[in-house]
Amino acid sequence: MGVPKRKTSKARRGQRRSHLALPSACLGRCPKCNQAVRPHHVCGNCGHYRGP
Ligand SMILES: [Zn+2]
Repeated sequence: MGVPKRKTSKARRGQRRSHLALPSACLGRCPKCNQAVRPHHVCGNCGHYRGP
């Protein structure tokens, strides 16, 4: 098994994790009340679910 020779520094670790953030704009619109809703979730305002 390959074993790392050096401890990953805080800077190195941060550089790697700089790409891990999720986009904040993962929101859709409820077709009934036009509220912002997460995809594949029931609308919190009117309870509408865009199913099959
Ligand atoms: Zn709604």
